[in-house]
Amino acid sequence: MKNNTQTRPAVFLDRDGTLIEEVNFLSRVEDLRIFDYTAEAISLLKNRGFLIIVVTNQSGIGRNIYTETEMHTIHEKLQSELDGAIDAFYFCPHLPCDGCKCRKPSLGMIEATCSDFSVTLPDSWMIGDKKIDVETGFNAGIKTAMVKTGYGRRHIRDLERTPDIIAENLLDAVRLILEI
Ligand SMILES: [Mg+2]
Ligand SMILES: [Zn+2]
Repeated sequence: MKNNTQTRPAVFLDRDGTLIEEVNFLSRVEDLRIFDYTAEAISLLKNRGFLIIVVTNQSGIGRNIYTETEMHTIHEKLQSELDGAIDAFYFCPHLPCDGCKCRKPSLGMIEATCSDFSVTLPDSWMIGDKKIDVETGFNAGIKTAMVKTGYGRRHIRDLERTPDIIAENLLDAVRLILEI
């Protein structure tokens, strides 16, 4: 049973370095720093009817740096700071070497979204700061925006495929996506 019968495009959002400051393996909710433009960017997308989906690799769980519960505490705080605007969080707790199907650039989290919601994939976007986020978008056949925050500036040099948009930050990316 899908959450929502109305088919909508989604924006798949990376978490660290895209919505919030990149701190290596964020484990304490006290260290959560949401970019000051994140709430505005998400509300612009939401007003245009996009589903707001966070897709995040959290190998810190597999590395025993923090627990799944600690991660959920951070997600609850992020959700409450954004007035509940996020429709769903999907996370991969595995290590790169585990060969799971959910770790970006694999598509497990996007596939999970499509089984939980009715998503118009061709009109959907992936936004992130790393090469793997761009690759995830290409692998899913959706449009991709790369932001220069987080690892963005460093990862731009390594890109093998060019995203549809390269933007200074999330708000910039959203304005370009919405053409405002
Ligand atoms: Mg990131
Ligand atoms: Zn995984």
